[in-house]
Formats: sequence, structure tokens, C-alpha cells
Amino acid sequence: MTTLPLDRTALDPRPDLNMQRGACPALSAPMMTGDGLLARVALTDAVTPAQLAGLCRLALRHGNGILDISARGNLQVRGLTEMSAPLLDTNVRALNLPLREGLAVETPPLAGLDDGEIADPRPLAEAIRQEAHGIEGLAPKMSVVVDGQGTLRLSHLLADIRLIAVRSDGGIRWKLLLGGAEATGRIYGLFGETDAIEAAILLLRELAATGGKARGRDLASGLPLNDGAAPSASLFGIFALSDNLCAAGIGPAFGQAQAEDLIALCTEAERLGVRSLKPALDHSLMFFGPRPACKLLVDFAGRKGFITAPGDPRGNIAACPGSPACSSATIATREIAANAAGEYADLLDGSFKLHITGCPKGCAHPQPAALSLCGTADGVSLIAQGKTTEKPFASVAFADTNASLGRIAELVRAERGEGENSAACLARLGPGRLAAAVMSGRS
Ligand code: SF4
Repeated sequence: MTTLPLDRTALDPRPDLNMQRGACPALSAPMMTGDGLLARVALTDAVTPAQLAGLCRLALRHGNGILDISARGNLQVRGLTEMSAPLLDTNVRALNLPLREGLAVETPPLAGLDDGEIADPRPLAEAIRQEAHGIEGLAPKMSVVVDGQGTLRLSHLLADIRLIAVRSDGGIRWKLLLGGAEATGRIYGLFGETDAIEAAILLLRELAATGGKARGRDLASGLPLNDGAAPSASLFGIFALSDNLCAAGIGPAFGQAQAEDLIALCTEAERLGVRSLKPALDHSLMFFGPRPACKLLVDFAGRKGFITAPGDPRGNIAACPGSPACSSATIATREIAANAAGEYADLLDGSFKLHITGCPKGCAHPQPAALSLCGTADGVSLIAQGKTTEKPFASVAFADTNASLGRIAELVRAERGEGENSAACLARLGPGRLAAAVMSGRS
């Protein structure tokens, strides 16, 4: 008989319910949503396909069998109950996964295997993780990004502290930015590796001293704006790596999958000799293995309805779980997203992410978007070139959502200039023209 370690769940089977909006639903502190409790499983390293399949079986046993891969590449198990959430916690820990506890220090999905990167960011990230261990009082969503500037970047992820490898006369240095995405962060300084670790830790201590109130952007006033960022490449498709390895970026549509489908994908990956995988940003899973195995896995995943190529319009939509999964949602975001991907593929050309959100919180895409549809109490707001909290250019009834998007797609089709992509066309048309198009079909 196996003896389970004595922990608080043995004494009290109820988890610490974390109902606060904006808080991170960690494994031991699940968050209430429209379809029950949601627990987050954040990993610091790759796992085997068998380990992910094991996690999926736990999602079936303890939850409703639905898993999300978040925009930042965290796994989320949905549909847990007060009784089952602590059991999931205990069972997940028994899988021996590289679970992240504490501060999120993120590196790009191909870090350390990417011949194109200026520097391997993992040692620096690991040193920050270790040094930050004893720092108490950081904001729950505090995050550090360490980016070696390889094929896949974390440039659009928001970060409190961001370190980017750069080449300089003195060799490789790390540019430290505070707050925002890479293009909107503020330059704090340029450091060698050891000094970069020290600077990041000092800043974290300064932020912690505010008792979780301050974020990276709060330390950035007066600092110069970073001068732009290279656009992030699509996570989907096959990437050549060092040591004759390849990575295959595969994702469920709109970041959500049935556990059975992921188990089938993992079983096939194992059969083909794919060695490991990582949940990655943009709701993707990055599988690592020999090129033929990756190629066959991509074919299999495509047949099963996963996103496998950059051109898939579903990969160009950021949709939160929406109704009925989230109790704050007023619209079925994924139904609208599926319709948009099927009907308006030409609008979704990869130049921007169409943001479809159940409420203004904008979980799926906290950054500004060229076009957002946001559920409200009365209908749907349409926002151009901004965050979902900004003033909409039009508001329509729930029933008019798809037709309104259709009118925008039609306008872009008609007005698109030679060689102009959808993002540029939407920006050029501006909110006035977009509003006129939306209102044109209404009596
Ligand atoms: S953005 Fe979506 S998932 Fe987030 S709270 Fe609002 S409805 Fe829920």
C-alpha cells in the first residue's frame, strides 16, 4: 500500500478558493470559473508525452476533461470541484513534473536548442529563479522574461522585468527593460550576465518591499522607451534545431482541448519517437524530436483538427474561454471565433490577432489589438487599435456580432491596397470607417 505524504489536504479537503479576479489560478489555489474550479499547472521545463498524457487522465478523473493552454503557455485543468481540486494537486505532484513554484521566469520555447539565438537564456533564468526564491511580497502576476533573441521571441508578452540578449563591442550583454511588451518597455540598463542577475534581483526586492502593490512599470518613470521589437514568428509549424533535432509547434483551436484528444496526440508522439514537449506561448505545444517524427506528428495533429501551420486562421484569433466556461463572460467567444475563422480567413492573414473576449478583462490578449470584440451586459463592443477597456467605435446587439464582423471583413476586402496586410488596412481605415461599415447593415 502506498502512503501519501501528510499535507493540508489530508486534514481539510477544501482548497484555498481564490475567487479574486486577476489572481493566478495556481495548482494549490484554484480559481472559480463558470464551469467549476480551474487549476493552473505551470512548468519550468519540458516533459515527456507520457507525462502530459498522465496529466490529461487526471483532468478526466478530477475535472471535466477540458484543458486550456494559456497565452503564456501554462496548462489549465477545468471543471474541478472543491473535493477534486486537492486530489488533482496531490496526483499531479506524484507525476514528478518540473512544476514552477513561485516567480514566473520565462524563456522562449526553443531556448538553448536554437542555433539562431544570441545567447542561451536558460542559465540566467535559472539563476534569477533560484535567487528570487526567498523574496516575499511580490505581486501574484509578477513575471520576468529572459529572451536570447532566437527564432521564436517573447517580445509580445508583458513582463515586469525583461532581459534581452544583445551583441555589443564588449561581447554579449543583456538589455534590461521594465514593464510592458518589448516594444513598450523602458530601458533600465545594459549588463553583463552576473550584473544582469544582480540588477534583476535588486529590482525584485524593491518591488517586493511595496508588499505586492508595485509592478515593473512603476519603477520605469523617466526611463527611455525601448526602440521597437522584431515581430514574433508564428509558433505553429516545424523548426530546425541544433543536434539534428526539430521542434513541431501544434495547438488546439483557441487554446482549449479535450483531454482525450491530447492523450491521442501524446500517444502518437511517443509511438513516433518524439522525446519531449513543452506547453508554449500562443496556446501551443512544442514537441521535440527527429525531423521525420515531427513531420509525421504534425500530419497526425492536422488530421485531428489541431492547428499545425502559421496560415491557419484559427491561430490568428485570441479568444478567452467565454460563455459558459467563465462566469464573467456574456458571449460564447469560441463560437464567434470558429465562425470568424471559417468565414473571414482573408481578414485573418496573420498580420494581427483578432481579439474576442467575454468581458473587458481581456484575459486572452492583455495587449492592444487592431480589432477586438468584447462582450458587455448589453451586447458586443467593437474596439480598434486598443485594449478592451478603451472606447469602442461601435456597439451591437449579441445577434449582430457575426454580421458586424462580416461587414468589417468585406470593407477590408474592398479597400485593401496592393501588398497591404489586414493590420495596416484596419489602421488606415480607422474607427470612423469601421463604425460606418458596421452600422451600414443596421436598420
Ligand atoms: S476575459 Fe474572458 S476568461 Fe477572462 S474574465 Fe473575462 S470572460 Fe472570463
